[in-house]
Amino acid sequence: MGRAFIISVGDELLSGRITDTNATWLSNELRAAGFPVMERQTVGDDREAIAGAIRRGVVDADVIVVSGGLGPTADDLTRHGVAEALGVSCMRHQEAVAQMTALFERAGRELSSTNLEQGDLPEGSTPLHNEWGSAPGIRADLDGALILVLPGVPRELKKMTRARVLPLLEEHPARGEVLVRESVTVVGIPESEAGRILEDLMQRGRDPSVGSYPGVAHLVLVVEGSDGAAVSKDVAEIRDRLGDAVVCVGERALHEVVAGMLIATETTIAVAESLTGGRIADLLVSIPGASSVFKAGFATYADEAKTDVLGVRPETLDAHGAVSEPCAREMAEGARRVAGADVALATTGIAGPTGAVPGKPVGTVFIALASADGTDVRRLRLIGDRMQIRERAAAAALDLLRKRLSRSGFAAG
Ligand code: ATP
Ligand code: MG
Repeated sequence: MGRAFIISVGDELLSGRITDTNATWLSNELRAAGFPVMERQTVGDDREAIAGAIRRGVVDADVIVVSGGLGPTADDLTRHGVAEALGVSCMRHQEAVAQMTALFERAGRELSSTNLEQGDLPEGSTPLHNEWGSAPGIRADLDGALILVLPGVPRELKKMTRARVLPLLEEHPARGEVLVRESVTVVGIPESEAGRILEDLMQRGRDPSVGSYPGVAHLVLVVEGSDGAAVSKDVAEIRDRLGDAVVCVGERALHEVVAGMLIATETTIAVAESLTGGRIADLLVSIPGASSVFKAGFATYADEAKTDVLGVRPETLDAHGAVSEPCAREMAEGARRVAGADVALATTGIAGPTGAVPGKPVGTVFIALASADGTDVRRLRLIGDRMQIRERAAAAALDLLRKRLSRSGFAAG
């Protein structure tokens, strides 16, 4: 079994100014590639500290991935830390310089002397060509460990991992079992209930393993195993047991799936939002192609906005209040009519922490879906803080629409 170590370099990581998302991402990639991560170290932009981390790492690791500090500025010391650990000095590497020159020429930029320093590599190491940024990565070998140094910028790190690191690991003699991974995105089922329904699949030590990772308004189930057919079988079983709570196989967001369904079926939409205040509109519009289906969003927060813009009747508000089934219904119908859309969603509710009234505690939310077939209104009791309740209300409304669209014959991935 291959053993991987990760060393993250950067004062910003130690001070807490940025979160080490590189290490998280790398852990996943390395494990799936047959090199589970056994240890992570974080060190500052300091030559000795970097060298020390590498020396400690090579004792147990087959592969050490170092991220950050490869850039052209004075605080980028990783190349010198690696050289120190190897007991060599840095030398201008002609191949690295040639690659950088070609890259800069293509971009029509002048290669400065500071940039040229990025072509200084520890003696005996080789460059890892970087087409996505100016600093080449570094490959070195020390005491039987393969050391791979990557830029800290997350986009570059990911591209470099896929293009340069994973191919090297594929040939590595210490490589362990490669895992097949598939995920299922679920909405509307709490983690505890999913855990009950899938209890036998989620037993510890089972291969494939099934894990659940909850978001604010959704749940991702990850199936991972050594045998692709067994993973697919579990995915099918999960789809079967969870039914229409399954949004998709994969990790697409609910709003992405819903926008895709609207676009594919050429169904136009309007939204009338009280407690979600434009969140649903924002989510839908974030998807490319939304302009072909998204007609209008109304953030109708005040009572007058609901009556004046959407035509909610004042008598409805007087008799039932804004947080009510009839108000949600009239909001959705009004939005659909005013915008001339095929369907409309509406939300109204109490996000808290204040605003509860007798019979309507914080978290009381009404969502409505108006279409040519009539209007469907649901009363929900959501839990969480203000942000969570608003996010869950937006998701519940989108999910109501998703289920309607899939029942009318549209199947999403
Ligand atoms: P550059 O050529 O841009 O200087 P670099 O390889 O020197 O790249 P750093 O200077 O360490 O990398 O980091 C560049 C930027 O990348 C940081 O400001 C930070 O935003 C991001 N970054 C660095 N390390 C990490 C990390 N471990 N997790 C997430 N983001 C990171
Ligand atoms: Mg830098």
